[in-house]
Amino acid sequence: MKKRHAAGKPLFDKVAIIGIGLVGSSLARVLRRENLARQIVACDASAAARAAAKRLRLVDRMVSDAATAVAGADLVVVAVPQSAYAKVGAAMRPKLKRGAIVTDVGSVKLAAMQALVPHVPSDVAFVPGHPLAGTENSGPEAGFAELFVGRWCILTPAKGTAAAAVTKVREMWRRCGMHVETMDAAHHDRVLAITSHVPHLIAYTIVDTVAALESRMKAEVIKFAASGFRDFTRVAASDPVMWRDIFLNNKDAVLEMMGRLYEDIALLQKAIRNGDGELLHRVFTRSRRIRRSIVQAKQA
Ligand code: NAP
Repeated sequence: MKKRHAAGKPLFDKVAIIGIGLVGSSLARVLRRENLARQIVACDASAAARAAAKRLRLVDRMVSDAATAVAGADLVVVAVPQSAYAKVGAAMRPKLKRGAIVTDVGSVKLAAMQALVPHVPSDVAFVPGHPLAGTENSGPEAGFAELFVGRWCILTPAKGTAAAAVTKVREMWRRCGMHVETMDAAHHDRVLAITSHVPHLIAYTIVDTVAALESRMKAEVIKFAASGFRDFTRVAASDPVMWRDIFLNNKDAVLEMMGRLYEDIALLQKAIRNGDGELLHRVFTRSRRIRRSIVQAKQA
């Protein structure tokens, strides 16, 4: 496999990836390409995913249970849907090596910590993480090494986590091409509720509203989809398991942000009813500025 940087000393001896789906397989590809691990072992509950990972030669060894995968690993990356975290935690706990680091890629950080912390022994460091990089596709075939380039990764270690462990996880994501920031887990969940979770909910809702329309109208919506709706359908094609888990796990923050959104929609509704073009223009101009700042920050 092609190496981008001169291969230095690998960051890790053995990395275990639990869940070789979109995110896990993308990380495996970078670990290989950048020579970040001497050995990569992965486990996945899905026989199809295990077969695909073997065929694509993503890792050195593919197994079906988390305990076997983590034995002797100095880094364990949990990359399964969050509803499977507690089960994975319980399975891997007896085999975690003393001094190992456990990290994860889950989208909701407080829930990730609640599910995994009870299964991480005191001589193992836990550095929760969330690479803000994804697509609407799932599985090992959908992964690609460039997924993370130029994106943010947020780490949410609890106070007192070994600094050396945080530094190593930070360095791994940096070598994946990511910008890395550390923040409190609750703050992460509120930020993500409004920047990612509520927008996905809106997309799912609009597409579902169309699905319920009478069939002639539906055909026209699909035919003329270019005008905005198409972008919603891409977002609404995201993995239903992952997004179900996100809303179940980030309930409070999502409900808070939805409350704010309802108020703002009501304001626009009133402006439309009253013909208040000035208010509409003001809101749309503000939104346009936000889009431009996202483009300038190279996050478009
Ligand atoms: P994915 O492509 O669906 O891959 C997850 C894999 O984990 C699947 O093959 C799944 O098998 C397997 N799995 C489920 N339960 C397991 C268990 N108990 N033990 C071992 N393997 C198990 O998912 P993904 O998109 O990579 O997402 C993984 C994690 O990354 C999630 O926690 C998500 O919140 C986070 N994340 C996702 C994105 C994104 O955009 N996709 C972005 C950032 C973070 P089955 O299919 O049989 O269940």
